[in-house]
Amino acid sequence: MQLPDRNLVESSADLFNRKLQTNYERLKDLLRPFDPSIPEELNVENLWSLSQRHHLDLDLFLRGQFNFETFKAQIAGDSQILPEKYLQNGQQLSRGRSVLTILDAVALYFGDEFCSNLLNRLQISGRRTFDPDEFLSMHLLVDLLTEVSRLGISNTDFRWLGFRSALVNRGTELGKIIYQFNTGDQIYRSMHEECMHFFDKNCKYEIQRLSKNSNEIKITTREQTQEIFKSRTVGSREVCLVRQGVYASMTLPVLGYPASIHESHCMHVDGDYCLYHLSWESPRSKPTPDL
Ligand SMILES: [Zn+2]
Repeated sequence: MQLPDRNLVESSADLFNRKLQTNYERLKDLLRPFDPSIPEELNVENLWSLSQRHHLDLDLFLRGQFNFETFKAQIAGDSQILPEKYLQNGQQLSRGRSVLTILDAVALYFGDEFCSNLLNRLQISGRRTFDPDEFLSMHLLVDLLTEVSRLGISNTDFRWLGFRSALVNRGTELGKIIYQFNTGDQIYRSMHEECMHFFDKNCKYEIQRLSKNSNEIKITTREQTQEIFKSRTVGSREVCLVRQGVYASMTLPVLGYPASIHESHCMHVDGDYCLYHLSWESPRSKPTPDL
C-alpha cells in the first residue's frame, strides 16, 4: 500500500487548522454580543462547550458547512429561519406535511429531543414549526432523510416513517376531506383529484388502475421540476420509500391500518418513473375516530 505524501498531509492539516481558526474568530465575533463569557482560545473543550450552550452542530462547523448568517438570525431569536441552500428560487415545491410526518414518526420512536438534534444537524432550529401546506425545498427532505439513514434503518423502516401521514394530517384541511369517505378507492380517487393540490409539485401522480381493493400509481418528475433542479429526477430512494408509506397510510381513515404496497419500478433505481401497487381489504365497519 502506498502511503500519502507526508508534505501533502501536513499542508492539508495546516489548511484545515487555518480555516478552522478563521471560522472560530468569526463565530466569536458573532456570539460576543449574546455571550460575554465566550472563550478566547480555540480548543476542543471550548468548542464543545459552545456547541452545547448555543445548539451549534460541531460536525457542520468542522466540515466548514456552517451558515453563519442563519446561526446569527437564530441566536437573535428567529427560530423560523432556514439555511440559504433550502431557499433557492423556484425549488420550493415540496410540502411541510412531508417533514411533519417524518418528524412525528421519529419523535414517536426516538423522542422529541432526538428530533430537535436531527433538525439541528441541518441548521434548523428545533423550535421551528412547519405548516403542512407551506412549500419547502426537496433538498431539505433529502437531507433530513440522509440524517435519519445514519441510524442504519431498513427500507421497511423508511416506509414506516410515512405510515402515519393520514393521522398527522387528520386535523388539516386535507384530513377533513379524506376522513369523510367510507372506502379506500374513494380516498385514492379524491387524493388524485380535488385533493391533489395539497401535495407536492415536484412530481406528477397518475392513477393507472383503481378498483375497490387495489390501486396502481405512476409517478414521474415534472418537466418544470427537471429544469429547475437541472436533474432528471429529484429526491432520493429514501424519499420514495417514505412516499410509499404516505400512500399506504391513506386507508387509515377507513381500515385503521395502512394498505399493502410494493413498488415494481423506481426512478431512483432503474427508470424514469415509480410504479406503486397498493392493495387492501374491504372494511367491515369504519374504525373508531381515535385510531
Ligand atoms: Zn421510487
